[in-house]
Amino acid sequence: MARNILNQKFKTPYNTAPFSKIKDTHFMPAFKAAIASAKMEIDTIVDTTESPTFENTIEALEFSGEQLDRISSLFFNLNSAETNDSIQKIAQKVSPLLAEFSNDITLNEALFKRIKAVYDCKSDLNLNTEQQTLLEKKYKSFARNGANLPEDKKSKLREIDKKLSQLKLKFGENVLAETNNFEMHLTQEDEVSGLPDGAKEAAKQLAESKHKDGWLFTLHYPSYIPFVTYADNRQLRKELTLAAGSKGFHGNALDNQHILLDIAKLRHERAALLGYQTHAHFVLEERMAESPEKVSSFINDLLLKAKPAAEREFKNLENFAKQLDGIDRLEKWDGAYYSEKLKQKLFSIDDEQLKPYFKLENVIDGAFAITNKLFDLEFERIDNIDTYHEDVLTYRVSNSKGDFISILYADFFPRPGKRNGAWMTSYKPQYIKNGENSRPHISIVCNFTKPTRTKPSLLTFNEVTTLFHEFGHALHGMLANTTYPSLSGTSVYWDFVELPSQIMENWCYEKEALELFAKHYETQENIPMDLVDKIKESATFHQGMQTLRQLRFGLLDMSWHAKDPSQINNVKAHEDMVFSATDLYPRTESTCMSTSFSHIFQGGYSSGYYSYKWAEVLDADAFEYFKEKGIFNPIVATKFKDYILSKGGTEKPMLLYKRFRGQEPKPDALLRRAGLIEK
Ligand SMILES: [Zn+2]
Repeated sequence: MARNILNQKFKTPYNTAPFSKIKDTHFMPAFKAAIASAKMEIDTIVDTTESPTFENTIEALEFSGEQLDRISSLFFNLNSAETNDSIQKIAQKVSPLLAEFSNDITLNEALFKRIKAVYDCKSDLNLNTEQQTLLEKKYKSFARNGANLPEDKKSKLREIDKKLSQLKLKFGENVLAETNNFEMHLTQEDEVSGLPDGAKEAAKQLAESKHKDGWLFTLHYPSYIPFVTYADNRQLRKELTLAAGSKGFHGNALDNQHILLDIAKLRHERAALLGYQTHAHFVLEERMAESPEKVSSFINDLLLKAKPAAEREFKNLENFAKQLDGIDRLEKWDGAYYSEKLKQKLFSIDDEQLKPYFKLENVIDGAFAITNKLFDLEFERIDNIDTYHEDVLTYRVSNSKGDFISILYADFFPRPGKRNGAWMTSYKPQYIKNGENSRPHISIVCNFTKPTRTKPSLLTFNEVTTLFHEFGHALHGMLANTTYPSLSGTSVYWDFVELPSQIMENWCYEKEALELFAKHYETQENIPMDLVDKIKESATFHQGMQTLRQLRFGLLDMSWHAKDPSQINNVKAHEDMVFSATDLYPRTESTCMSTSFSHIFQGGYSSGYYSYKWAEVLDADAFEYFKEKGIFNPIVATKFKDYILSKGGTEKPMLLYKRFRGQEPKPDALLRRAGLIEK
């Protein structure tokens, strides 16, 4: 049998992945072999007779399983960007194997004993900052999973973890079932009046697929959102809004009230077992925000400033609805509808006007030109490395001294095997080993409109900012300059990771930056600045109400996780109390947000919802520093590169940020950008 290419060192330019030689059938045996050899590496660490040191334990653990990491990132990246049935089947088989392997490590008591021995004498070890961070991170990954607990509490923790994973799964299944169980069947033309053709078409097709006439609407976003935004029929908007707002709140077999109460209580119990005051204290220990108190003052500070603006906007919207349709009291099912009408009236701006200025190639060149000015990076198209699809572009990234910085893959167009959305990822991390700085392989993946024979790919403004966003993440990966791979690039605290991406979006609104690339693809004319001003202005539309909404969800999240929930018995009453400070619309008795708040009860956002706004505060505050000194100011840019982009997770993000900015982030820049306070 020929040797499996995935189990060998890649003999390729820059050690890149040999995509064209990899067959799907290579993966499973390669995974098994790589897991086996990673296990052996762990055994070697544990079995050594030498006493534990930073090098023979922490560093050895950090660099173990390199081949497994490489194959995993390759495989799971392909599963997102170029998947097929066989890859999906392998993913189902391999995921439990990987979970089991990582559990084996966290539960390895002999290994933890050695780690703890190093940790307990950390102050005598003379470690540098990055080494201290690595030690802390490794130790915590065990301790936070109960490694320090006595046997009986350990098994209690396992029991809670098992229950929690079942409950979270059930919560999600119920939300999905409630979503799927509802449909609104319409047969009269006047019932769908106001809807755009595309939405009507989709609803008609859905009806046909179920052998019905007329139109079918559901609670899935692509169906629900256009309906509540455009449908003129107020009664039907109400019906759909109330259905969407009451998922998991019907007192039937799919009801989530008890499930979420159990989740909140078990999380609290788990945190208490580990010695934390609440679940939020446990989560925030590894976040830039650090504590529930800080999150709470962050939310309340923003709330104080956003609320008057939100109330003003709401009043205006209500007046507008009254003038237009004689609506006396604006209800939840009116918000999206009249907002859209008002927005149309105020800003007659559409994508078709802008698109000719944003030919994909020009936008890419623009992103390159801007990062060249800021961070001294040069991008050279190369064709001597393998890709997984012919659409994927490849670049060699270097600096002006000629140092090799990174490989960049760029994959822009939709395909059947690619999932939706846009993301940045890496095929190989950056790290320094044996004195050699091993550079990263970074990729950005998007789903932009493909060029046709007669027309190039022209991006909407939203796609332009998406490209800059992902490119910002890519810079975080490409400019990484750390010793340890698990602290490199985007491996940072969760509420810090969007700073590099979101800050890059800001350049898309600046004249000096747009002049570099926003040229009409036929006439070569620069984009007119009044168009740009309009984009900026429309971006602040209803920012008060939107900010209030985000803060409301953040408050609800913290209310479930930053206090002992054992006294809460009535989900709806608790929620109403939390929401009372942020209500704009009249309350509806039949709806409940918590019972379908999958972000926090199913996904990983518990005690983390605030981070959406947190990230915005960071990027606005950081960009304001650029604005003060000039958006291409080399000193500010170098600070951003040296103190943030290259540092990954080697230090606490607040320290990194303060070193860059000279002070902690303040919300004022965001509030100004959103038009909520005076310039
Ligand atoms: Zn992002």
